[in-house]
Amino acid sequence: MRCRRCRGPAVVEVRRHNAAFCQECFVHHVHETVKRSIKSHRMFGPDERIMVAVSGGKDSLGLWEILLDLGYRAAGMYLGLGIGEYSERSRVVTKAFADEHEADLIDVDLRGEYGYDIPTAGKKGSRSTCAVCGLSKRYVFNRVALDHGFDVVATGHNLDDEAATLLGNTLRWQTEYIARQFPVLPSREGMVKKVKPLIRLSELETAAYAFLRGIDYVVEECPLVGGNTQLRYKAAMNQLERTSPGTKAQFLLGYIDRAAPLFKHEDTAELSPCERCGQPTTGRFCAFCRARAQVLGERLGAPPEKSESDRQVAGELSEEVLPAELYGGAPAALTMGS
Ligand code: SF4
Ligand SMILES: [Zn+2]
Ligand SMILES: [Zn+2]
Repeated sequence: MRCRRCRGPAVVEVRRHNAAFCQECFVHHVHETVKRSIKSHRMFGPDERIMVAVSGGKDSLGLWEILLDLGYRAAGMYLGLGIGEYSERSRVVTKAFADEHEADLIDVDLRGEYGYDIPTAGKKGSRSTCAVCGLSKRYVFNRVALDHGFDVVATGHNLDDEAATLLGNTLRWQTEYIARQFPVLPSREGMVKKVKPLIRLSELETAAYAFLRGIDYVVEECPLVGGNTQLRYKAAMNQLERTSPGTKAQFLLGYIDRAAPLFKHEDTAELSPCERCGQPTTGRFCAFCRARAQVLGERLGAPPEKSESDRQVAGELSEEVLPAELYGGAPAALTMGS
């Protein structure tokens, strides 16, 4: 196998491009692919302050390194979810990365700041563990970015993640979620701009990048991942990819390049400030405040409006759009404020 770019011995094969690369050219390929996404979706410019949401995994640490390599002003933000040793190791790895790269890191502990951790929330609330986790992450990322004056929040979602999410949303024709599944969500009142620069790189590519760059990342999966439905969609996409390389990319990038405009009018959520925290929401209280109050056994005020539904709740704060069943469980509107 020869490197497509320099004809030297190749170390990584990218089947969907029908190409192979040596180490140096693979790193170049990754950088160019990310540069292309940043440029084509106008994600951010060289002067903007970027907050990278880092979990300690290969994608987010890889993204942070790529942005630093490309000369961007990228700080990391780690959110401690309180998931035992997994969270501890994630924090250690993230801190070590920041130190090694002399990069700024904001370290937030969910329990310290908001009074609960994810395992407790999964047991006490009406939502699944991954649903309340996703909701908490999106909320805190946005909050911290606003408080620290960042221009944009970047997450490490890769092509596989996004293709699996799109598959889940398409199988159910959840058109509102499909409409918001885009590599860039512009800022609006109370919401920082969100971007996904790894959208054109597969999980194999991000793993190979982290490995070749010697990034120490958390390999183990979250111990609570069992209830995460996205894994099933990933497995289904992998099955298709095995027999037809390029399927994932065609599905996701085809959506982004050609089909997304057809869904634009489906993004109809009208937002107003949450009466508790001021974050934009479709109801009186945002999904985060409602979930948190439920977990802490607090009362949020008068009963929520009857028109609220779980669908709306899932739609708000949906910078990262997840399959609706992640938001399953008894409608929060029925159990809050009682
Ligand atoms: S697997 Fe679920 S609980 Fe674990 S980090 Fe991911 S979303 Fe959170
Ligand atoms: Zn080469
Ligand atoms: Zn709120």
